[in-house]
Amino acid sequence: MAHDLQRVSRSGRARIGVSFEFFPPKNAEMETALWEAVTRLAPLAPNFVSVTYGAGGSTRERTHATVSRIINETRLKPAAHLTCVAATRDDVDDVIRAYWDAGVRHIVALRGDPVGGAGAAYAAHPGGYETSTALIKGIRKIAGFEVTVSAYPEMHPETSSFDADIDALKAKIDAGATRAITQFFFDNAHYLRFLEKARARGIAIPILPGIVPVQNFKQTASFAKKTGASVPQWLADRFEGLDNDPATRRLIAAAVAAEQVLDLVDAGVMDFHFYTMNRADLVYAICHLLGLRARAEAGAGAAI
Ligand code: FAD
Repeated sequence: MAHDLQRVSRSGRARIGVSFEFFPPKNAEMETALWEAVTRLAPLAPNFVSVTYGAGGSTRERTHATVSRIINETRLKPAAHLTCVAATRDDVDDVIRAYWDAGVRHIVALRGDPVGGAGAAYAAHPGGYETSTALIKGIRKIAGFEVTVSAYPEMHPETSSFDADIDALKAKIDAGATRAITQFFFDNAHYLRFLEKARARGIAIPILPGIVPVQNFKQTASFAKKTGASVPQWLADRFEGLDNDPATRRLIAAAVAAEQVLDLVDAGVMDFHFYTMNRADLVYAICHLLGLRARAEAGAGAAI
């Protein structure tokens, strides 16, 4: 079909950029798994890799240790996540300075979820940064970090309207953010509509789609509910009846993610952020489909 011949994703013309998100490990076994994932994905030469900051600052030391290890043992550029939750400005400023001293030059600045978890009412910590916008200003005051922020194609659950959410993103950019990563989504129409609205509002920074390969449908669906991301019926149907069939589930997950990213490439999207869940195989395969190939000089052990 003529339509197929014109697909950018099949033309070899797409110049794809990727970034990978990891979470800090809780124990030695998880540390090994994380490092296997980092080692496998590093040769794909991502633009950056980000490391999350546990709810309420619960991973403060572990996030720091993980980004430090990435700096010391790889050629990857880490972005450390940071939230405002349950900490005074002084505490948060200490974390920011410690990141800088460790060689981190990129922060993903977030307000964070309420102490009671996503869905509970948010209250700023007394003496803390009240919003992500305030946090960005604080970071920029301390040092010349690159700052990335979140964006919500289906709206943040606490926001009053779609336009209010775009205004909030605009405020974060005015405060100094130069890139956004979206909450994950499964219907590309949500992302493309958000992108259109943001561009119409004068937002020009890159807005990377956050892609989550569905390692476990039930878990992903329950997480999506809390974050305001919708789970379409067609997606549930694709995983139906596979609870006890992990091998088929993995093939379906690969097919679902492949369809999503290739459709985005056809729509002109060239940069992707993957929520890896500290597992490499699905993400590696999707990156391969996108045309990325391992480069030995970019590997994780390169700087050891
Ligand atoms: P914000 O941008 O701060 O928005 C939150 C709400 O406040 C929205 O309703 C928004 O419209 C409103 N708002 C924002 N700015 C203003 C303003 N200036 N004036 C008025 N209203 C405003 N959580 C973690 O705990 N650790 C992580 O590492 C982490 N990483 C994440 C990475 C990404 C890419 C994403 C998308 C989310 C991540 N989260 C993380 C989840 C995030 O902390 C929660 O979604 C949280 O509820 C909101 O924080 P935020 O910075 O994303 O939202």
